[in-house]
Formats: sequence, C-alpha cells, structure tokens
Amino acid sequence: MTLINLADFCPATRVLGPGLRFVLWVQGCCFRCQGCISPDTIPQVKATLIEPKVIAQAILSNSQLDGIAISGGEPMLQAPALSELFAILRQERDLSIICYTGFTLAQLEAKNDPEIAVMLSYIDVLIDGLYIEAQNDNRGWRGSTNQVVHFLSSRHLEDAPLFTERKRDIEVYLRNDNALMVGVPTWEFSNQFPDIIRSLGKVGDGVG
Ligand code: SF4
Repeated sequence: MTLINLADFCPATRVLGPGLRFVLWVQGCCFRCQGCISPDTIPQVKATLIEPKVIAQAILSNSQLDGIAISGGEPMLQAPALSELFAILRQERDLSIICYTGFTLAQLEAKNDPEIAVMLSYIDVLIDGLYIEAQNDNRGWRGSTNQVVHFLSSRHLEDAPLFTERKRDIEVYLRNDNALMVGVPTWEFSNQFPDIIRSLGKVGDGVG
C-alpha cells in the first residue's frame, strides 16, 4: 500500500488558489531554499502516514470544496501516493488540483518517470521552481517571480492573472500549542511570523 507522508493539512481555505480548497502539505523535500516558508517540512522523515483513500474521504465529505492544493515539502517525491489520491477524487468529483513543486516542469519531464507523468496528468495548475527570496514580489500565489505558473488544463486559464498579480492574503489558525499559516505571505510577514507566533506563546508551523 502506498501511503502519503503528510506534514499538515487545512480542510478549507480561500487563500491558496481560486475557490475553496483543501490543502495538503507533504513531509520531505530534496531542496533547501533560503527563506523557505515551511522549513519544518524539509526533513525527509516520517510524519503522519496516511492512506490516500482516507484523505480522499475527508476531502469528498465537504461538498463545498472547489478543489485541493498540494504543497510541501516536495510533492513529486510522493508521486505514486498522490496520484492515487487524485485518481480517487476525480472518480468521485471533478475537483480542481493545484500543485507546487521545487522542480521546474522541464526537469520533471526530463526525468521520463512514468509515476511523475501520471501525477502531472491530473494536475490543473503546476507552480514550479525553487523559491528565490530576492525574487519575491509580494504578489500572487507563487512565492517568487522565477516560478512559472503552468496551466496543464484549461480549467483556470481565466484566473491566470490571480496567480501572479493578486494581492496576497493569508489565514493563521491558532491551535492548542502551535499556529498554522495558510497562503502565500508577503516577504515581510513571513519574516515576522515566527516572532508574532512566539509572542502568542505558540510554535509557528509556517506552511505556505
Ligand atoms: S520552498 Fe519548497 S522547494 Fe524550497 S525548500 Fe521549501 S519546501 Fe522545498
């Protein structure tokens, strides 16, 4: 059985792509971008191992959702399990799928990896490339301007300006002993977030 190694999730948000989305942050990344908004998800360690069908049930139980967003960590390191999740979702409902990756699309295609090809076949919007702090323009749903928004299906073509130009907003969820940040923050806020959260007596789990 292929399991998803999950760092965290948010059951519904409007700050990470068009419409209402369930967000998954996977654990483990092969990159180490300076200024990464979710450094806790970089270590390639076991976090929460969960069956794709269990996450699919949680997503499908909310009829209000327009889609999902996958970030990390590096989703492409978990292509088989995520493809299984996508397949279940698409069998049941035509949900939109947005995925972030530190690889460029050209690098992924050059791998000639059938598991990655299957995963890409489900994705509507792929936001690719490493996060480069000096190229963070504080706009849109991508982290920095080197990242390219690839519309792999026509579903979100009309929303294209939002991905690169939209004024940014975030949601912060205060939990028992930590805080979860959802969305792509401005450069200034992402630097202040750990101090803000510490001042509230919590640990920042700044997944973007
Ligand atoms: S920004 Fe993304 S690709 Fe870069 S280290 Fe963080 S999780 Fe990995």
